[in-house]
Parts: sequence; structure tokens; C-alpha cells
Amino acid sequence: MNTQNFSIEFYPPKSAEGADKLRIARGKLAQLDPKYFSVTFGAGGSTQQGTLDTVLEILGEGHDAAPHLSCVGGSRQSIRDILQQFQSHGIRRLVALRGDLPSGYGGGGELRYASELVEFIRAETGDWFHIEVAAYPEVHPQARSPQDDLQNFARKVQAGADAAITQYFYNADAYFAFMDQVSKLGIDVPVVPGIMPIINYTQLMRFSDMCGAEIPRWVRLKLASYGDDSASIKAFGLDVVTQLCERLLAGGAPGLHFYSMNQAAATTAIWQRLAKA
Ligand code: FAD
Repeated sequence: MNTQNFSIEFYPPKSAEGADKLRIARGKLAQLDPKYFSVTFGAGGSTQQGTLDTVLEILGEGHDAAPHLSCVGGSRQSIRDILQQFQSHGIRRLVALRGDLPSGYGGGGELRYASELVEFIRAETGDWFHIEVAAYPEVHPQARSPQDDLQNFARKVQAGADAAITQYFYNADAYFAFMDQVSKLGIDVPVVPGIMPIINYTQLMRFSDMCGAEIPRWVRLKLASYGDDSASIKAFGLDVVTQLCERLLAGGAPGLHFYSMNQAAATTAIWQRLAKA
């Protein structure tokens, strides 16, 4: 199977120890030769320096890297400053998001939606950046309706996004149904499925509640039945996620984007199985 269009996401480490662990994980994942690594950005700018530092380390190691950039809580000037900083370091790729402010963090920002951020980036920097945006095959949790969410996705593409990465999901049909609707709207940018390896049951349930990802009942029950047996959780998760990836790629997905959670083992195991298929 062709692994050429696979990419891998990290979050910026919060401590020197985390940074060391990430360097080790990254060294292993770099051997897979991903198309690029991306690094998340804390809404409200909480991890802004960590995002840039991590991206610069990756670029320095000879790999392509994309910082994420969220607009919630920011002003036009603060985003302009960040874009100029990215340009001054020769960064050519971005993942542009609205972001979610932690509760109690205050409000809004000058750009309300990711579509407005993409429009702003294009107005400020022209074609300098390759821009990815987020897509939601299982519908964004705050959307008024699936149709509305789809129109809002279309707005991001019309504003100048080059490609999209999806929120993670475990139901391939949700992706295929989304892609049918996207193509009926005449949108032809690549929409790359976001893949969340299953490593830890409690963490997966917590994230999925927050972002609206559905864990199929049979997968949830099976994972719960393993209790603290983390080896069984990982082995079962590897089978489920590899089969999901195989179905997605066989059905025409243009690549895969792995949410690595800064760990190498699970992403590597899925990747190697796919490469052998
Ligand atoms: P938008 O596209 O702006 O959509 C947000 C909501 O507003 C949706 O419900 C949409 O339907 C609605 N909407 C959009 N436009 C309009 C409009 N004009 N009128 C009315 N409603 C509208 N978060 C971070 O903080 N940092 C990260 O680094 C990060 N990386 C991510 C990477 C990926 C690949 C994904 C899928 C998500 C990531 N997130 C990140 C989470 C993301 O910020 C949240 O899902 C957030 O709630 C929505 O961001 P968005 O860019 O999709 O927003």
C-alpha cells in the first residue's frame, strides 16, 4: 500500500522531559518518512512558543512541518504577527483552525470562524502557505445541522484552503457519505482522514466525548471488557484501526493523518501493517 501521503501530528511538549520523549518518538516516526509532521496550537496562544519551537526542530532535522494556528481569542494583529514569524522561518504549510478556548478563558476574538482565518491568511500572505483545514464526517458538535456544517466546510475551501484533515472517527461509512456530499458541492480538495490509534480506553472515551467522535458500541464494549489489560486493548485497537485504514484507502482516501499523541509505537505498528498490505 502507498504510504506516501501519510502525515503525523504531535502536540507541543509541556516540559523538558516531554520534549526529550518527543524527540525519541519523532526519531522513530521519521524513519517511516511521512509527508510532513504537524504540531498543534493551544487556543488562546497558550502553547504558541512550543508549537514554533517544535516545528523548527523538525525542519532542522530535515523533515517538512506544519504548525497549527487557531484564531479563537486572537486579534488580527496577533495573528498577523504569528504569520510573519512563520514566514520569516521559511514555514510554508499551515493547519488553520478556529480552536476551542478552555472554559473560563473569556471570549471570542476578532475572527469568529476558521473560514475567516483562512480568508485573512490569504489576504495577508497570498499563496505563501499551503493551508489545511478541519473537516467533520460525524458533524462538528456545535453545528446547527449536518447541512449547515457541510456549508461551513465549503466556506473554508472557498476562502482558500488547499486540503482538509478530518476529525477522527471509527466508522468508515461516515467518511464516504461525507465525501459524496463534498463532491456533490463540486469541492475537489483532498480530504485526508484523521486516524486516532487506540492506546488507552479511558483517554479515548474522554477525547471522544469532547470532540463528538462516535466509538461504535461493539468496539466500546470490547475495550471495556479488557479492563486494565492494556496489551489486549492495544492489540484489539491495532486490528480495528488498521482495518479502518485499509477500508478508507481502498475506498479512495487520498492519504492518512495520524494523531500520534506523541507516541511512536501504535502509529508505527499500523503504518507497517498497511505498508505490507
Ligand atoms: P470552524 O470551521 O470555524 O467551525 C466551528 C463550528 O462553527 C462548526 O460547528 C461550524 O459548523 C460552525 N461554523 C463555521 N462557520 C460558521 C458560520 N459562518 N456561521 C455559523 N456557524 C459556523 N484545536 C486547537 O485548539 N488547536 C489545534 O491545534 C487543533 N488542531 C486540530 C486539527 C484537526 C485536524 C482537527 C480536526 C481539529 C483540531 N482542533 C484543534 C480542534 C478544533 O479547533 C475544534 O474542533 C474547533 O471546535 C473547531 O475548529 P474548526 O477550525 O473546525 O472551526
